[in-house]
Amino acid sequence: MIVKRAFKFKLKPTELQKMGCLRFAGARRFVYNRGLDQRKKAFETTGKSQSYFDQNKELTLLKEGAEMPWLKEIHSQVLQQGLKDLDRAFQNFFRRVKKGENPGYPRFKKKGVAESFRFPQGVKTEGSKVFLPKIGWVKFRKSREIQGTIQETTVVQEGKDWFVSFSCEWEKATPKMAPLDEDRAVGIDVGLTHFATLAAKRENIHTRVENPRYLKEKLDRLRYLARQLSKKSKKSKNRLKARIKLSKLHTRIKNLRNNFVQQLSTEMIKTHDIFCIESLDISNLLKKGTRGLSRAISDAGWRSFLHCLKYKAEECGKHIVEAGKYFPSSQICSSCDSQQKMSLSDREYHCLSCGLRIGRDYNSAIVLKAVGITVLKACGAALTRGSVEAGISCLLGERGSNVTCTDKDHSHLSSIDANRRRI
Ligand SMILES: [Zn+2]
Repeated sequence: MIVKRAFKFKLKPTELQKMGCLRFAGARRFVYNRGLDQRKKAFETTGKSQSYFDQNKELTLLKEGAEMPWLKEIHSQVLQQGLKDLDRAFQNFFRRVKKGENPGYPRFKKKGVAESFRFPQGVKTEGSKVFLPKIGWVKFRKSREIQGTIQETTVVQEGKDWFVSFSCEWEKATPKMAPLDEDRAVGIDVGLTHFATLAAKRENIHTRVENPRYLKEKLDRLRYLARQLSKKSKKSKNRLKARIKLSKLHTRIKNLRNNFVQQLSTEMIKTHDIFCIESLDISNLLKKGTRGLSRAISDAGWRSFLHCLKYKAEECGKHIVEAGKYFPSSQICSSCDSQQKMSLSDREYHCLSCGLRIGRDYNSAIVLKAVGITVLKACGAALTRGSVEAGISCLLGERGSNVTCTDKDHSHLSSIDANRRRI
């Protein structure tokens, strides 16, 4: 299997190199914004969008012309990557439109916000120095060893500091899959009141993972800074300062959150072999209600947590079963399997069929675990019997659920997803 990982370090550029970085990031922003403007205008006049190749051709001509001599000083790949980023932004936009999600048209990049540029190649490292084409050898704070081969290098500014991030890849022997033991299984429901609610082992041991305290602490400050920014007059220096302050805090929260999810996922991988989780799909998470900042932050937290869990499980040969987008884990009774509607404000599941009273999130976690185990067992049984179809139909009869087993060895189960039952 191929392992992909990013390694990020703080750069220690000289003043001259800092100016180089700023120039590169500015040029990339210029190319991106110019391209976006062209695409917008082209669409308004002809109804067609420009392609990356058209724009890249035009960029080459622009570079050769006398109109913008400063473009010649910028590494050509950095400029191309600007257009590629734009292209990706449009592809994502069209994908969201197709899926019926909130499309979010690509926006112009602002100065001083997440300035960055990328090199697809030509970067090398030596000790704690990195060679960035046309900028030179830049020192960085090497906090750990870089593994694998560098595929792509991104230089990004956060607040006033510059960072370098290497996307690396390496080959690793595919691990042996862990045995299917329910005592090593856990169902995970993510939520707003608690970061996650777990139901572990055969006896569904109830554990809550609290939201990290930094969230609450930083949230007020975040609101305050956002308000300050909105009060500053447009294009003023103070506005730029306020924006840098705000982006610094966002970075700080992002780092804290990353630490938290990394530690939590590593801990969980050590203690369990089977993970039954909700879909990573946003529409599922949106059902968790309450808009606003805290929601947005939790949202990002859940997503990166489930993402970490997924790739770590894959590397260690553990099983991950991800419930489908429309799987109503919160509406199914964990005791008798009957299903009833639940409003967002109901914190307790009270089953009208069997009279069970249980915490809403805990109920979901148990249901997720039960369904996950059923899928994995059906999968395993079907594989040994050599009859995959039988396994699936029996499973559907049992739970009528839409659960996708994301384990590569069980990919045949994805057909279950076609039988989505909506409520
Ligand atoms: Zn019930």
